[in-house]
Amino acid sequence: MTLHSQINSSESSGRLYVVATPIGNLGDITNRAQQVLSDVDWVAAEDTRHSKQLLTALGIKQTLISLHEHNEQARAEQLLQKLQAGEQGALISDAGTPLINDPGYHLVKLLRQHDIAVVPVPGVSAVITALSCAGLPTDRFSYEGFLPAKNSKRLQSLQTLENESRTMVFYESPHRLVDSLKSFLEAFGPDREAFIGRELTKKYEHFLSGNFEEIIGYFADNPDKVRGEFVLIVAGKNVTNETEADTFVDIDKMIEVLLKQQLPVKQISEIVSELTAKKKKSIYQRVLQLKEQ
Ligand code: SAM
Repeated sequence: MTLHSQINSSESSGRLYVVATPIGNLGDITNRAQQVLSDVDWVAAEDTRHSKQLLTALGIKQTLISLHEHNEQARAEQLLQKLQAGEQGALISDAGTPLINDPGYHLVKLLRQHDIAVVPVPGVSAVITALSCAGLPTDRFSYEGFLPAKNSKRLQSLQTLENESRTMVFYESPHRLVDSLKSFLEAFGPDREAFIGRELTKKYEHFLSGNFEEIIGYFADNPDKVRGEFVLIVAGKNVTNETEADTFVDIDKMIEVLLKQQLPVKQISEIVSELTAKKKKSIYQRVLQLKEQ
């Protein structure tokens, strides 16, 4: 490993701006994104036809260069040369933040290796947009992107996540949504809370929350709603109950050890209360119960 240090306030010559674009609502483009997209020498885009429409809607004329998953490695070398020659460029994807399940990783990695400034111009991403309104814990979350397409691989991959305690975020396409929900039901069981954000920021934005059986039932009754773009958020495994149960077992064990030493009930309660920070009165009751067994 080699240490690379980049300070973006310095006027370095060539630089690449990584610019987030809207995921459905044009109004979500930032002022800074518009300014940067107008000012740079060129814009590298996943689908140049699609991005041309966006830039036209924003009143921006730009030179577009295609950069997608099939040409990224070769294109990255060409863009590196342009940036080394002092040009300024921007990278956008079809929607949201580049590199978040979109092209750009190889390019950014290459530029970092060559000490070319990479400057973020942040904005929307479907993962954060969905988390912000799901009503599930957001203090810790795990972004899982797209699940494997094949049923067996998908199930396998979900089984590795079964004990994940953080909220999990998945992207899903409409034609796999119901099969995926069935895999979730099989891997996580019927009680897990889930949330679906469909067509976020668009005209028919739609939210669903419930357990997997309820959500699968909803889509069976409303097949016309299996359409558009989806973010699926799944609650982490609830570790609270387990922890309480484990603590209880530990407390019982402690009490049993002390009872074997034939210490008085009051003294055992004081020791266990001190060690566990639990109320002396409830520990006292538990010591009496265990002593009588
Ligand atoms: N780079 C994008 C981002 O920052 O969110 C993600 C690109 S990924 C190829 C496309 C997937 O993102 C869709 O299949 C869907 O799961 C999710 N997505 C994008 N826009 C969305 C929207 N408006 N509503 C719901 N999900 C969306």
